[in-house]
Amino acid sequence: MPGPPRTRRGGERTERHLSHSGSVDGVRCPTCDHDDTRVVDSRPADAGAAVRRRRTCPSCGGRFTTYERVEPADLVVVKRSGDRQPYDPAKVERGVRLATKNRPIDASLVTAIVQEVDRAARELGPELDSDQIGRLVLDRLEPLDQVAYLRFASVHRSFDDAEEFAREAERLAGH
Ligand SMILES: [Zn+2]
Repeated sequence: MPGPPRTRRGGERTERHLSHSGSVDGVRCPTCDHDDTRVVDSRPADAGAAVRRRRTCPSCGGRFTTYERVEPADLVVVKRSGDRQPYDPAKVERGVRLATKNRPIDASLVTAIVQEVDRAARELGPELDSDQIGRLVLDRLEPLDQVAYLRFASVHRSFDDAEEFAREAERLAGH
């Protein structure tokens, strides 16, 4: 049985106003647009990562279901220039994919690396610099594939600039 959802800043309960059966919380009825629907049942879903709520609309009598999930905390990447931007796992994925292009590394492994980097970054966060992200990737590529590691190592200095990074990685991947 998996534990509760892992959130670093999860200490605080934020559903006071939602947790009682019959409470009103303003979710709009999908049938008639009435905005005063009621929660008639709440239960954990997705092994505790979400809460599933059955709702009823006092206006039309319709019933529907909503899910509430924890939104991952926002991570901020501080670039060398001092600029800050939201952490974007898609950039990490693009970089890893390019670094591992034509290497014996399965796509599912790339996905696993991106997820691990994401998790590690959240543990370091909520603020980290682009070098830290580069190192998180490198730590995972090194034991897997030396070529991919070297490709990524040689370009991760450009990680600040996603476009430059992609260009450089493509060049190294032989394009
Ligand atoms: Zn309704």
